Amino acid sequence: MARDLPSRLWMDLTTEDFATRDMSGVVAVLPVAAVEQHGPHLPLSVDARIGSGVLDAALAMLDDDAPVLVLPQLPVGKSDEHTAFAGTLTISHQTLARVWFDIAESVHRTGCRRILFVNSHGGQRALIDIVCRDIRVKLGMMAVNAAWFSMVRQDDLFGPTEAGHGIHGGAAETSLMLRLHPDLVRPSAIANFPPVTIAWEDAGSTLTAEGAVGFGWQAQDLHPSGACGDARLATADAGGILLDRSAAALARLIGELAAFPVERLQRSPGFPPGLGAAA
Ligand SMILES: [Zn+2]
Repeated sequence: MARDLPSRLWMDLTTEDFATRDMSGVVAVLPVAAVEQHGPHLPLSVDARIGSGVLDAALAMLDDDAPVLVLPQLPVGKSDEHTAFAGTLTISHQTLARVWFDIAESVHRTGCRRILFVNSHGGQRALIDIVCRDIRVKLGMMAVNAAWFSMVRQDDLFGPTEAGHGIHGGAAETSLMLRLHPDLVRPSAIANFPPVTIAWEDAGSTLTAEGAVGFGWQAQDLHPSGACGDARLATADAGGILLDRSAAALARLIGELAAFPVERLQRSPGFPPGLGAAA
């Protein structure tokens, strides 16, 4: 176990630090985010800023000798649902999947066998799932897809409607920004941006944006502002609660991943020798 890592930042180690250690027990954390419009009241940097804030808070909760190395954040993600709004940056799903996989392959070359995607952008969860499977199949690594918004309760803070529909620049993200970077929030532009999915749900529709039956939406299909949710419900206090919950959930996950027996990930089904496929 590499319990004597000189830094938690991958970039700050030397090549000798890697070459002289058994890296198999280290959790490599890859923070992935997005640079995309978040309505009139928030900057394009929301997902990158929140992702960094949650990860920093989670790292502060870990023991000093936790076997964790944080890779440099990849702030630009797949944001093609926001291309109708100026300023949005996006990378195609083909290119981004390739970049993420290539980084995992570089991590694998050090002997590291665990990679954790810490994601803060809802629009790329499906792509991370696909890449994690690819990493498992082709590299034999434990690859995990985690996002703060999928790991914590929000309904007790903002109510069930906002928790279910406030998926972009609503109460949750605005609260976290008020807590982490209040200077980047424009209070005069805070408003209610109710997505059309609330009316659909009230009418008994089967269609949803994020639930069991999704569809390939663009942000303007849900609300013309580009935001979804009631940002008026946001407070810095609620942001602090979300930050603590998210960080605790992520810290727990990192601990579980460090303890995961990677030898469970076998190349063959485990038949006696001679009966199964060759390993
Ligand atoms: Zn966001």
